[in-house]
Amino acid sequence: MGFDGILINATLIDPSRPEGCRGADAIAIEGGRIAAVGSTADLLNSPTGQTEVLDLGGAFLTPGLVDGHAHPVGGTDLQIGADLSGVQSMEAVVALLRAEAARTPPGQWVMGFSLDPITYAQVPHVADVIEEAVGGRPACLYIFDFHGVAVSRTALTMAGVTGPRQFVGASVVVCDDHGKPTGVLLEPEAIELVRRLIPVRSFAQRAAALRASLNRMAKAGLTGIHVMDANNESLDLFRALEAEAPLPLRLHAAPWLNPGDTQADLDRVLALQGQHGAHWRVCAAKFFIDGTIDGGTGWLHAPDKFGEGLAALWPDLDFFQHAIRFFAERRVQTITHAIGDKAVRFVLDTLRDVAEDIRRAARHRIEHIESLPDEDIARFAAEGVIPSMQPSHAVRYTRADHADNWSTRLGPERANRAWRCRDITDAAAPVVMGSDWPIAPFDPREILVCARFRRLAGQSTAEAIQPSQALTGLEALAGLTNVAAYAVHEEAVSGALTPGMRADLTAFSVNPLTASAEDLTEAPFRLTMMDGRITHQAL
Ligand SMILES: [Zn+2]
Repeated sequence: MGFDGILINATLIDPSRPEGCRGADAIAIEGGRIAAVGSTADLLNSPTGQTEVLDLGGAFLTPGLVDGHAHPVGGTDLQIGADLSGVQSMEAVVALLRAEAARTPPGQWVMGFSLDPITYAQVPHVADVIEEAVGGRPACLYIFDFHGVAVSRTALTMAGVTGPRQFVGASVVVCDDHGKPTGVLLEPEAIELVRRLIPVRSFAQRAAALRASLNRMAKAGLTGIHVMDANNESLDLFRALEAEAPLPLRLHAAPWLNPGDTQADLDRVLALQGQHGAHWRVCAAKFFIDGTIDGGTGWLHAPDKFGEGLAALWPDLDFFQHAIRFFAERRVQTITHAIGDKAVRFVLDTLRDVAEDIRRAARHRIEHIESLPDEDIARFAAEGVIPSMQPSHAVRYTRADHADNWSTRLGPERANRAWRCRDITDAAAPVVMGSDWPIAPFDPREILVCARFRRLAGQSTAEAIQPSQALTGLEALAGLTNVAAYAVHEEAVSGALTPGMRADLTAFSVNPLTASAEDLTEAPFRLTMMDGRITHQAL
């Protein structure tokens, strides 16, 4: 049941009209929409017949927060087993794996996630180290960015992986100088060699786990997600969840195309466009043009320190360009993962070749944009392409002293061009913000903190990553609200606190524009409301 009534005693913050909420501290809600915005006294006295009143106790009410890039289905499916996040030594990985193996019933795979590549770089054959830790069982650990796995020797044997392989895309079975696999498999085709052997949970188990993830997200203040992993099964999961109960978040879904896909795949993803339920819809096509800097698969103008980064993920770039044009000409938004500088330029160039009116109408997006040279900064605004970025990745996965793997691979010049949110915003292209969960936590407070301070709570300013690229509190909040709404063509119905807008709302207990990194990180959300329904309340 929706809330029809009045939210009173709030500080209203609307990034789409920062001056426009003066004198208003209450919002009336009716039928899932904002019916009126005004003072508590005015709205309580208005003859709407609404009786329900919720006192927000001075909380800071904003348009509902939207994660502009996350993988709720894949994240839920993949975060199984030992949580290895933050673990920096192979010994510590082994200790956690021993405990996980002891917990895992005999005959089942031992799983883990968020493995840092720095750990397996400390040993020649991680497969043998894992093998010993799990007592000779099949085991699979996802690297933190999910662009690779480290597996046990038994898992390699079961998969029949005995040496280097050729793939259509840029996948790699990492081998030593003698051609013996080390246990590391990078990018989708190589990962699939092992992944297909791991039993998946039942559909019902997956649906239950997905609802639990979405509920946790609502508790973290989120009212929507731009879903980047909407394959057919994801849509089936959304349908199944909605058949039971309303979704707690609004899902804007983009099914993906893989390197090596054919025209039949383009036709299939085109046919999915417009499919929808009450609170989910398919509204874009997702591509990957490259992999990651950490894995040596980000596509760069010049090679990284290890001579890698010179290939796109798509074997046939002409077909990639055809695919982008195919969707663009049919007015379907394309969303392309492009991390390396060459990858970003290639996608910008591909889009520039689409007729301008058609290109602008679909609002195409580029995701990640981790290192960008000066000459491409102004192209986003000039060419009508939306930049979508994850400031928490800069903070979590690189270091100010450049001692991390990402910076080491790129070298100081390119590492100093990390996640240029300030420069791109100054060049008139507001940035959509996201977490890319499960690659980083989905907590939007962390995204706001990293965007504003370029560090995490508790870190010193000396540890901030390229602090000159920090955004203001208002710009950061806009990236999760009105800019996110624009990116899914919904600025007329969401992302602002004005009458007629959907009642998708988030209430912070501190001012998200001015709170310190430490206060904002700790401050609980008071209320999350989606479509006029309360999805989280802590008043
Ligand atoms: Zn992603």
